Amino acid sequence: MKALSVLGSTGSIGTQTLELAEEFPDRFKVVALTAGNNLDLLVEQIIRHAPEAVALAHPERLSELRERLNGLEPSQRPARLPELLGGNEGLEAAAAWSTADLVVTGIVGCAGLLPTLAAIRAGKDLALANKETLIAAGPVVLPELEKSGSRLLPADSEHSAIFQCLQGTPYAETARLSTGTPTPGLRRIQLTASGGAFRDWDPADLHKATVADATSHPNWSMGRKITVDSASLMNKGLEVIEAHYLFGLDYDHIEIVVHPQSIIHSMVELADSSVLAQLGWPDMKLPILYCLSWPERLDTPWRRLDLTEVGALTFRAPDPARYPCMELAYAAGRAGGTMPAAMNAANEQAVALFLEEQIHFLDIPKLIDGVCERHKADLTAHPSLSDVLAVDAWARQAVREAAARLQAKTPAALPA
Ligand code: NAD
Ligand code: MG
Repeated sequence: MKALSVLGSTGSIGTQTLELAEEFPDRFKVVALTAGNNLDLLVEQIIRHAPEAVALAHPERLSELRERLNGLEPSQRPARLPELLGGNEGLEAAAAWSTADLVVTGIVGCAGLLPTLAAIRAGKDLALANKETLIAAGPVVLPELEKSGSRLLPADSEHSAIFQCLQGTPYAETARLSTGTPTPGLRRIQLTASGGAFRDWDPADLHKATVADATSHPNWSMGRKITVDSASLMNKGLEVIEAHYLFGLDYDHIEIVVHPQSIIHSMVELADSSVLAQLGWPDMKLPILYCLSWPERLDTPWRRLDLTEVGALTFRAPDPARYPCMELAYAAGRAGGTMPAAMNAANEQAVALFLEEQIHFLDIPKLIDGVCERHKADLTAHPSLSDVLAVDAWARQAVREAAARLQAKTPAALPA
């Protein structure tokens, strides 16, 4: 029985993880949960999973949660109410919860960084969904993994595909994804990308893109931020940096290929030129389950892949003119040090402003580019945690200021 701490339990990754815990009750149990604002769903999750600890990102809502739990009907009330925790300290305590074996990081954004570090310092294995943490703080996270011996199992579907393809290579035997040194025998990674919501749009129409357009993904059902990142291809750019830190390849050997069917989840080329791919329907449950069960595979009754039903698998090179964020991410990854933290924070802030309808979709890459250009002079090559946190805060503020200047120049021109 593996005990799970699920960070971001009310989100897309979190809810799918809890569904897996229910699907395999003799394999997994949930000992800790953390959530942002969705108390309705969180209370339901507490009733179903009876965790030992629950942490709320916003401590001011703890009394409301306590009241709701105390007011539950006896038939719904878990035998033991969880310990309730709040704020950053609470999230970190839930991430390092003593009885947890594996921590699923389903918090969105760099907000996941401190809880992730707390889990690593407590020696927990991680199912890494929260890629922003590794992108912003790779140079801080990797040495911590080395020190604690925690294993970083990739939940992101592309990185799970790569990890699955590498089973049976010397790399997988080390069972350590944490060294940041090149994986033996791995020559090249090809990350597949669906192309996102705007893959078939004429680039000349992108200025008309609304929030509703950008948040409807053609293949995957995910949280709003990552869905916008998929539309801009920033998600794939972030995944290039994620792959660099996980598998140790330099950026010239990590490529992106647009594959609209999302059946091949990524490919690796090994030293002898053999190319391996992992295939499946686009469903995050499989990569999450593999993190939970690794190195075992569990028998599932899920819909099986039928390639005759799919018909054709197609591939094309991504068009840099359509997806400027992709190039920005490669450039930030190559610059290294604190540049990915600046780029990631600028993206998080720009996407948040876009979701609030404060800026255009096409402003996102412009704002990120401005921040990365300004950060060149201040880049720290070997950052500490406080360097990363300072750059993250600076980049968000820089985007807010630049967005305000943009709004002053072109007010009220947002698409309806
Ligand atoms: P989501 O928005 O659906 O859920 C985010 C969760 O984090 C929620 O529980 C929310 O309450 C919590 N949260 C939000 N802000 C927080 C804060 N400041 N402090 C603490 N908790 C906070 O997001 P998601 O789509 O599940 O994505 C989660 C992470 O997984 C992201 O890093 C994303 O890139 C990654 N990921 C997601 C998918 C997917 O299919 N959804 C696939 C691959 C990777
Ligand atoms: Mg992915």
